[in-house]
Amino acid sequence: MFQVLALDLEGTLISNAMSQIPRPGLFAFLERCREMFPRVVMFTTVNEVRFRAIARLLVEEGYAPAWFQEMEFVQWQGKTKDLSFIPGAEIITTLLVDDFDAYVHPGQEAQWVQVAYFDYPYLTTDMGLTQVLQQLDALTTATVCATVQSPSTA
Ligand SMILES: [Mg+2]
Repeated sequence: MFQVLALDLEGTLISNAMSQIPRPGLFAFLERCREMFPRVVMFTTVNEVRFRAIARLLVEEGYAPAWFQEMEFVQWQGKTKDLSFIPGAEIITTLLVDDFDAYVHPGQEAQWVQVAYFDYPYLTTDMGLTQVLQQLDALTTATVCATVQSPSTA
C-alpha cells in the first residue's frame, strides 16, 4: 500500500514558476490524489516561499483546493529528488510524480510515475494529469490485489 505521494510543480502541475499556467484538470487531480494517498507532499526545485505564493494564487483563482497552499513541502538538496528527504517516509511506499527523468534518484526508478511535460502551447486539451491518475489507479489497485492474495499463497 502506498502511503506518500510526492508531486513535482513545474511542468507537472503548472507550466513554470514564471507563467504559472495551471494544467488542465489540476483541481480534480489534486483532490483525487488526496483521496488515494494518506500523505501528499510537494517536492519541487521552486523554493517554499515562492511555492506558497503560487499556490495561494491558484487557490484564489479556483484552480486548486484550499489545502494546496498549506500542503507539506519537502526540504531537500542535491541534484536528484531522493525520496529519503521526505521525513519518516518509506521509499518503497512512496511515489514521485515528475516530468523530468534527471530528477529521479538512482535506485528509486520504480517509485517514479512519469508525467508528460506540460509545455507550450499549453493546450486546454492536455491529458497529462488524467494519464497520471490512470497510472496511480493501476499502481494502487495492483498493490491492493497483491495484499489480498498474499495470505492464500502463504
Ligand atoms: Mg518538473
